[in-house]
Amino acid sequence: MEFDDVIENTSNDDGIDNSSIESAVSQILKAVGEDPSREGLQFTPRRVARMYHELLGGYTMDPKVIINGALFEVQYDEMVLVRDIEFYSLCEHHMLPFIGRAHVAYIPDGKVLGLSKIPRIVDMYARRLQVQERMTRQIADFLRDLLKPQGVAVVVEAMHLCSMMRGVKKHDARMTTSAMHGAFRANLATRQEFLANISRGEMPLQI
Ligand SMILES: [Zn+2]
Repeated sequence: MEFDDVIENTSNDDGIDNSSIESAVSQILKAVGEDPSREGLQFTPRRVARMYHELLGGYTMDPKVIINGALFEVQYDEMVLVRDIEFYSLCEHHMLPFIGRAHVAYIPDGKVLGLSKIPRIVDMYARRLQVQERMTRQIADFLRDLLKPQGVAVVVEAMHLCSMMRGVKKHDARMTTSAMHGAFRANLATRQEFLANISRGEMPLQI
């Protein structure tokens, strides 16, 4: 990436304070014994500040803008499933990435959402400081409140860099979390249909 790409467009109104991030990163560089003025690090504080607009932009994403009219009245009451939605998040304990995929299903009750919107909703919650369990629930709760469906189910599988790089260094430290509402919680067959669908032809999660 060219540095020009990095410095432009830093005035997003997303509440992220570039100059505070820049001075904090500069302090961290000094604190770990680095020289923030050496060539390779010269622009690092600014790059990091710029990067957080993207990585933590989910706080200020407006769900109304994301949905933007893609809510349709449809008489359809079979399961709608979007699987293998790739996401990148940051764990709130270490600010290191956890990355993986989400599978989202719902059974409509008169309302459906344009399919391309579901990955954007996942993104809205992934681009925050997160814990995987909360992110999973937030996606499910959002769709429940928006669509008032007969049921909604979310399964998230992720690899956490903080467990892979440090401590016990479990390179395949994978975690699966789920959140279910309505029919997926109440009805075993519905839940099993969903779980069978997301495990069909599944590829192991890899970095
Ligand atoms: Zn962590």
